[in-house]
Amino acid sequence: MPKKCIEDVDVKGKKVLLRVDFNVPLDEGRVRDDARIRAVLPTITCLLERGASLVLASHLGRPRGKAVPELMMDPVAERLGELLGKPVKKLDQVVGPEVAKAVEKMKDGDILLLENLRFDKREEGNDREFARQLAAPVDIFVNDAFGTAHRAHASTAGVAEFVPAVAGLLMKKEIEALSHCLENPRRPMTAILGGAKVSDKINVMRRFLQLADQLLIGGGMANTFLAARGVSLGESFYEQDLLETASSIMNESEQSGCRLVLPVDLVVTRKLEPDSDSKVMEPQDIDGDWKAVDIGPETVKTFSRYISRSAMIVWNGPLGVFEVPPFDQGTRLVAGEMAKSEAYSVVGGGDLVAALESLGLTGQVGFISTGGGATLEFWEGKELPGIKVLQDK
Ligand code: ADP
Ligand code: MG
Repeated sequence: MPKKCIEDVDVKGKKVLLRVDFNVPLDEGRVRDDARIRAVLPTITCLLERGASLVLASHLGRPRGKAVPELMMDPVAERLGELLGKPVKKLDQVVGPEVAKAVEKMKDGDILLLENLRFDKREEGNDREFARQLAAPVDIFVNDAFGTAHRAHASTAGVAEFVPAVAGLLMKKEIEALSHCLENPRRPMTAILGGAKVSDKINVMRRFLQLADQLLIGGGMANTFLAARGVSLGESFYEQDLLETASSIMNESEQSGCRLVLPVDLVVTRKLEPDSDSKVMEPQDIDGDWKAVDIGPETVKTFSRYISRSAMIVWNGPLGVFEVPPFDQGTRLVAGEMAKSEAYSVVGGGDLVAALESLGLTGQVGFISTGGGATLEFWEGKELPGIKVLQDK
């Protein structure tokens, strides 16, 4: 990795500002899913064992620059304390004299958690003075929050102007795994894209066309491609204003030598409700008030064939409306095929990862990215602000 990581610097006796992604789901004042907290434990333990003291900082939810009692970090501090087996002190401020005093008093091996960064609107505004205050009490900045690395906020980018900045272990893992696919594609390589909209993923689609041997498309975005071919699709969701983009992407695929594979059959329903009436249709036969909500069994077979022959798989976005069973079936079956295959697989996207979690398949994926937007932008080839500011080796 071209960027410095905590393993490359001496942290003994140093006070470290550690930016983490503790944006966890809460349920009646308790952490409902602590996966994001557990993901940072290796970095925390590594820093503590090597004699640093830690000031942790994260955002939680969308308080939009105001203190929102339900989004205070207390439940997170409590859960982290349980996982570490020692209490984690939470401060009620993000910056200011109380924070300075508390950090001053810390001894090697101590750990505290700041209040929700986004209670202060200067965080998302990447305010220079706010960043300076965040950095003031510490010696080093460590960014382990890959999921927000595509945002230039005070705690992800701004602070690096004032203290040396390096990557945490989770950030390092993300950078290595995601660039591995871009830099050392193993062939045949299959890219899979799903989710609702083409518009969210145009650039990553173009990048995958350059990279992969085939690009399999499912989800709502497949409808837009089918519509661009002139198929009417009943009441299916698609993006009218992206038909031209979809056509030009199909043309690009012919030139790039990457096969673009669209669904040959779709699961359609009239009502998007659990276990509502549904049937399988070929795209050109969908009419009336039917809408396509999942890929059909023939498409699953085709996708599975490509997957079973692949040496590398990258996948973003679910292939159907997985939140409403049985329309999770396409995503489930394709994920199962990927889990069986020998290929190295990298998966990203909030909704797809949630789908794989609910299917219990996360253990069988090579790497699961913790980023949504950040993963997409990384794959697009953009330089993410939160990574750019880290020191080069
Ligand atoms: P990710 O978070 O994995 O990148 P997206 O946010 O792009 O995925 O898309 C996820 C959403 O796409 C889900 O809410 C899902 O219901 C929706 N979706 C998938 N297939 C369809 C479809 N055929 N019609 C409408 N919405 C769909
Ligand atoms: Mg999403």
